[in-house]
This record gives sequence, structure tokens and C-alpha cells, in this order.
Amino acid sequence: MHFRYFVIGGGSGGIASARRAASYGVKVGIAEYGRWGGTCVNVGCVPKKIMWWAATVKEMLHESKFYGFELKEHPEFSWSHLKSRREHSIKRLNGIYISNLESSGITHFDALATFVGKNEQGFQIQVGENIITAENVLIATGSSPDGLEAPGSEYCINSDDFFSLETQPKKVAVLGAGYIAVELAGVFRLLGTETHLFTRGSTALRKFDEMVRTKLHEEMEKQGVQMHPGSIIDFVQKDSKTGLLTVGTKNGEVVSGFDQVLVAIGRSPNVKSLNLSVLGNVATETSKGYIKVNDFQESSISNLYAIGDVCGKVELTPMAIAAGRRLADRLFNGMKDAKADYENVPTVVFSHPPIGTIGLTEEEAIQKYGKENLKFYSSVSVNLYYSVFDIPPSDKPRIHMKLICLLPNELIVGLHMIGMGSDEALQGFGVAIKMGATKSDLDKCVAIHPTAAEELVTLAPWGLAPSSHL
Ligand code: NAP
Repeated sequence: MHFRYFVIGGGSGGIASARRAASYGVKVGIAEYGRWGGTCVNVGCVPKKIMWWAATVKEMLHESKFYGFELKEHPEFSWSHLKSRREHSIKRLNGIYISNLESSGITHFDALATFVGKNEQGFQIQVGENIITAENVLIATGSSPDGLEAPGSEYCINSDDFFSLETQPKKVAVLGAGYIAVELAGVFRLLGTETHLFTRGSTALRKFDEMVRTKLHEEMEKQGVQMHPGSIIDFVQKDSKTGLLTVGTKNGEVVSGFDQVLVAIGRSPNVKSLNLSVLGNVATETSKGYIKVNDFQESSISNLYAIGDVCGKVELTPMAIAAGRRLADRLFNGMKDAKADYENVPTVVFSHPPIGTIGLTEEEAIQKYGKENLKFYSSVSVNLYYSVFDIPPSDKPRIHMKLICLLPNELIVGLHMIGMGSDEALQGFGVAIKMGATKSDLDKCVAIHPTAAEELVTLAPWGLAPSSHL
């Protein structure tokens, strides 16, 4: 079997690229070893967001008393019920992916793809029992969770395993400091698990704006997540009688009684099974071996391309989809300059509360432009949702916002938010920032009242930024 375009990896990015190529009449094949839809659909964004909603529902049930609801019985939560509903909805998505491939006329293989060689005719690839040939190949194999390098790592689970948990742990340790660590720690805690977060640094999300980091730390502490900053893990031990786990840190702290220890310390590209060495020198980056690509997703081998997490540059599903579609546009639809734009990519962390961020952090902006060339705006407000809460005003959760503008015209170079509604608010502001919005552009947009997002178009001083009068 010969293909003009063969995609290795049936995640969101690979499938999007394959379908775009097929829409141009190209003969396309795609191979996936695991479940169709890849990390995002099966063990990432989609099931995670369902768990985030579960935690949010539980929080709102608890808070419903402030709105006059009297729950006659204590609401029981069934982890296994939720798991089965979640899996049902994901199986549906797996099926949709396959039927989309079929309706696009793409040959799909449920098999591992391994390079066998390359000659003038193109690439030879072993796909399960078959050897296929292809003129162009896209690697979209994604990444997998990194394991802990400490004694006892075999007792730990990772984010993939999280979605297989049959029961809710009573007490959990989350080791790590990135998106996954804070998102899953938030889910566990709000669903009632005693949750401990061990981070190497003083806070999680080290690369995020300082305001976001600090406020998340405070909010998580308020919710009862037990924070263990400055913790380098020394060992994990299992009690042979109870099966419970103990975490020990290099600074001598020992915490016992965990029924699960979840490691979320980053991910590494899925490249091993590809057998890339038969192709010659495929350039890679960092000790993790990300496939090195240029702006056009071209690897160091001609007609070999890579997108998504396997390249390690902006590891977000929509980024991989955009890169995959643009690549197909360029290769098969004559759009010779088509490429994905990796600048100003909005991102949301589904922590509790959620975080929305785009552009430079304050620290990065100062380093790039100098403090004297920047203007900062900020706002702190209480969402109206909390207005009827019978708690001291100072305890009401807030939404914190920061706008970073470049003088003289106050071009927005960074926007950071943490609090209820930040997740949904960011997308529209992302469009504006991508279009080159300035502070005065935000001021010119009349506020939608009452919303959390309106704070961003009424930041004080309102209407006084350069070009406000235009
Ligand atoms: P991550 O966001 O890259 O964070 C991993 C963090 O763990 C590192 O930043 C590091 O923080 C810490 N770490 C690394 N090695 C460690 C070690 N040996 N011991 C203790 N801590 C260690 O990784 P992730 O959470 O696995 O997520 C992977 C990627 O998936 C993310 O970068 C993101 O792009 C994507 N993702 C996105 C979403 C979303 O869009 N909502 C959700 C999940 C994942 P320190 O250096 O500060 O210790």
C-alpha cells in the first residue's frame, strides 16, 4: 500500500492533519496503537474537564445553602458512577473519530507504526503486519507521563492511571508543580480526598505570572490542600500490611497513610517505538528527545514532519490541530506560507479556581522591554455569585486580573487572570490580543454587566490610555 501522506499517531493533531489532507483529494493513511483521539480525548483534556466539572458541582452543592436551598440529605458522590458515565462519553468520541476518518476516505490502522527504511520512493513503515510506503510522513505520536526517579516509584500512579482509578482515594499525595499536578490536586480536594501537594519550588506553576502563582497557592491552601513547598522526593514506601504509602522528602519530612501517590512532573515525547535511527540523523532537542522542527513543522529529514507534544513546543491540543491543518494546507493545497503561529497562545489551567493566561508574564515583559517601557493594570473583584454568601467579605473568593501593556500606545503584551470565569473569559480577549489590541481598545468595548470579564474593559484609569479619544 502506498500513501501520499501517512500520519503516525491518531490524536487530535494527527487526525486533524490527515482529514485536512484528505479533503484535498490526497491518499492518506493513519496509524494509532492506542485509543483513537490520543491523550486529549482519552487521558487528558476531556476526561479531566469532566472531573473538573464534578468537583465544581460538588462545590456548588455545598454552597447552594446560601441561595436558599436546603438539601434534605447529604448528597452522596459515586466515583464509579462518574467514571462509567465519563467512559461512556469518551467511547462515543472514539467512535466519532473513526467514523470521521472513514467518511474522509482515510485508511486507518489500529497498529503500531515503525520506520523500516527510506529510499527514492519514500518511507517504508511497518504498520502491524503490513509494510506500507509513503511520500510524506507526519509524526504526531504525542508524549507520555514521566516517572519519578526515586526508590518506590513503582508504587506511584500517573495521570493516565488517574483515569483508571476505580475508587476515590481517601488520602492522596500529588508530586509535581505543573498543569496536571494542580488540576488533579484541585479535583481530589474538592471531591473530598485529603490532598497533599509536594512541589520542588516555593509554589506550583513556576513559569506563570507571579500573581497567578501566589493566588493559586493561597486559594488551594484555603480549600484545604496541604502544601509541601521546597520538597524534593527522596522515597516512596509501601506498608506491606496496609498497602498504604509513605512519602519522604530530602529535607526529612515523612508523610504516611496515602492510598495513592500521583506523579505529575512533566511528560516526554513518544519516539522510542518509531525506530527513527533507520532514517539517519533525525535532529532532536533536549535530553528528552523532542523532534526538532522548523516553523513549517519540517524535521531534519526531507518529507518527514512532526507536530504536537512530540515536538515539545506549546504542548496544547489546539496548537497541534492548528499546526497539523496548516501543514496539510501547505503540502497539498498550494498555500506555500501556511504555518501555525506559536505567538500569544492563550492557555487555561483548570485548577480550582481556573487560570487564564496569554502573552508575557510580568517578569518576562520586564526582561524583554524594561520596566520603564511598560504599564501594568490590575483588578481584584468578588464575583456576584458570592454576594449572598454569609461569610466575612474578606473570605469571599476573588478574581484577580493583570494587564501588561507596552508603551507608548499600550499594546497588550500579557494578560493573566485567576478566579471564577477566567477560563471562559480568556478566549475572546485572546482574539483581541492576537489582533494587536491596546488598553484603549479594551476601554472602547462597552462592559457586559454583571460579568467577571467586564472588569477587563473597565480597568482604572478607564478611557485615559493613549488614543482613547480616537
Ligand atoms: P508541566 O506543566 O510541564 O509541569 C511539570 C512540572 O513538574 C515542572 O514544571 C517542574 O516544576 C516539576 N518537575 C519536573 N521534574 C520534577 C521532579 N523530578 N520532581 C518534582 N517536580 C518536578 O507538566 P505536566 O503537568 O505533566 O503537563 C505537561 C504539558 O501538558 C503541560 O506543559 C501543558 O502544556 C499540557 N497540559 C495542558 C493542560 C491544559 O491546557 N489545561 C492540562 C494538562 C497538561 P518545577 O521546576 O517548578 O519544580
